Amino acid sequence: MNIENYSTGAGNSLVHKRSPLRRNQKTPTSLTKLSLQDGHKAKKPACKFEEGQDVLARWSDGLFYLGTIKKINILKQSCFIIFEDSSKSWVLWKDIQTGATGSGEMVCTICQEEYSEAPNEMVICDKCGQGYHQLCHTPHIDSSVIDSDEKWLCRQCVFATTTKRGGALKKGPNAKALQVMKQTLPYSVADLEWDAGHKTNVQQCYCYCGGPGDWYLKMLQCCKCKQWFHEACVQCLQKPMLFGDRFYTFICSVCSSGPEYLKRLPLQCWQTHQNLKDMSMFWRH
Ligand SMILES: [Zn+2]
Ligand SMILES: [Zn+2]
Ligand SMILES: [Zn+2]
Ligand SMILES: [Zn+2]
Repeated sequence: MNIENYSTGAGNSLVHKRSPLRRNQKTPTSLTKLSLQDGHKAKKPACKFEEGQDVLARWSDGLFYLGTIKKINILKQSCFIIFEDSSKSWVLWKDIQTGATGSGEMVCTICQEEYSEAPNEMVICDKCGQGYHQLCHTPHIDSSVIDSDEKWLCRQCVFATTTKRGGALKKGPNAKALQVMKQTLPYSVADLEWDAGHKTNVQQCYCYCGGPGDWYLKMLQCCKCKQWFHEACVQCLQKPMLFGDRFYTFICSVCSSGPEYLKRLPLQCWQTHQNLKDMSMFWRH
């Protein structure tokens, strides 16, 4: 199977079936709890994933969903996952979040190393229980976090708790943390290989979250860096997006080094008579 079809091909038919994890439960399922349900973890696997493991996987809408790993493809760095609603899909490793290992040793989620020494100490996320070196996490973790009694959430958990359909949370401490994290990307934009129209990249890497995406499914394109951003991850929307809506000027938080900028363009000629389907067809060609 072609790697770029992994999520986009199946995504169109599956994306509406699932409800985000957040909506089923008041707080996202504790990942520590998930990994404990998994009985066998005696030997260390070649990669950090195991068949039968319960994980959270990021879908092309930018949201995380609960699923179970059925197959692992080391060559393509992806796992075949069955989701709660029985739908199945290949998901790249970068989009899969596992819980803490529970084996006693704490390794950094990013570099898999155990050491913890200033100025690069290991910091444990208060939500998922996973460890991150100060310098491995994006953005780097300030030393003030280590001495503080306040809760610290890793990037993945900040996204998992604040992103939602119709636009991410705008208020509260996690929303504030999201705003700050969004000014740094967890990947290198320069390394992405785009198609001629700058709509899809080989790495399936979009947005602040670095997750997969379908540009025509509720994503905003930054007019400066040309990257695409999930509706679920942006914090500037007044109303949920319409499919195929391209009538805006958007500047992402990376390019603005602060809050996003969004300005709607006049709709006039389209406003009244076109239905959404026509609109999205038009803009796709
Ligand atoms: Zn590390
Ligand atoms: Zn976390
Ligand atoms: Zn996103
Ligand atoms: Zn930008």
